[in-house]
Amino acid sequence: MLSGLRGGAKAQRYAQNAPVNIFIRTIIVCLMLLSPLFAAPQAVAGQGVVTGVRTGVHTDKTRLVLDMTEGVEFQVFVLDKPYRVVIDLPEVAWQTRPDAQYHKGLIKGMRFGLFEAGTSRIVIDVSGPVKVHRAFVLPPKGSSKYRFVVDLVAVQSNEFRRLIATPRSKPVKKVVPSATPAQTNGSRKANAKPVIVIDAGHGGVDPGTIGVSGSHEKEVTLAVALELRKKLQRSGKYKVVMTRDRDVFVRLRRRVARGRAAKGDLFVSLHADSIRKRSVRGASVYTLSEKSSDKEAAALAAKENKADIIAGMDFGDQSKDVANILIDLAQRETMNLSATFASLVVDELASSVRVLRRSHRFAGFAVLKAPDVPSVLIEMGYLSNREDERILRSPKRRAALVSALARSIDTYFAKR
Ligand SMILES: [Zn+2]
Repeated sequence: MLSGLRGGAKAQRYAQNAPVNIFIRTIIVCLMLLSPLFAAPQAVAGQGVVTGVRTGVHTDKTRLVLDMTEGVEFQVFVLDKPYRVVIDLPEVAWQTRPDAQYHKGLIKGMRFGLFEAGTSRIVIDVSGPVKVHRAFVLPPKGSSKYRFVVDLVAVQSNEFRRLIATPRSKPVKKVVPSATPAQTNGSRKANAKPVIVIDAGHGGVDPGTIGVSGSHEKEVTLAVALELRKKLQRSGKYKVVMTRDRDVFVRLRRRVARGRAAKGDLFVSLHADSIRKRSVRGASVYTLSEKSSDKEAAALAAKENKADIIAGMDFGDQSKDVANILIDLAQRETMNLSATFASLVVDELASSVRVLRRSHRFAGFAVLKAPDVPSVLIEMGYLSNREDERILRSPKRRAALVSALARSIDTYFAKR
């Protein structure tokens, strides 16, 4: 994965970056000279493994240490609103899971995972303006493997603003074209199969909500998405397109774009919720609306729309396409179809799995904003509830849910 070409491209990127990155690059070059591992052919070098993550508080800094099987190149940068530190690495495997134990010193929380093909990302939530004072890789010594060390120190907000303003190239490499979306142009033939876009919520560096016994929403959504794809494909009636089919982050507007590029006839976004009150359980279905049906739906949309922030996205380049789509006539038609499908899903779910009392609600979900693809978002249950979590984690018990979703899709297209 770490081909010479990529290394060269990275070199340019480092050169444009803040002094810390020049420093990092120097360290990497030194390591490459010192370490026989770097000199070896790097054909299999892409998949380093992170075996441990530790944090420590010192008088003058908060330190993050990653134990790794290999030395890696990396890029670090800071973001605001909210304050975050982002570290991009080549794609690595994680032998450790993120959880709350990383709340220490300047670090409020941390997530890591695949950001996109070829790039793994660590996103650190920090308590205020900070800078990456030092970041370096230590070569193996004794029994210890490579250690990747990042030191964070608090800074005044004017210094932080200068860091943010430092020109920075895109944090990730060129987007790898997805294998899934159809790129066909022109209108579909009348007898062509309907295209169902299945959107497994969250993924990679964005775990989604965390369940009562530690399950990740991103795993549940992907499992159901894959099972639903299988079921729909077996029926032979549909063409199925996935916004993701593995544990990778996909930003919200790209999910919408994939649905549109595939000329989707239906966009089904799968999620699972959590709530402080652990007794609450059941599924619910959401469609897009400028005005939310109720406060909880609005809060849920706000929570789901945060996925890009969670994954360390910078909104400096956010175009207005998804953020502010005007609800024009075409979209109104789409919204009617979305509502029709939503009520079919609610009916099917109600007959086979538990649903909330008000099962169809509306709010401003960013992922539902394709103006021409009827879209619904399904919260399949509450991972904060033990029973819901058990159901959503069990392939056997998920089958009823998957069948209900498939039946509602069948009914929708049979009526059209
Ligand atoms: Zn979600």
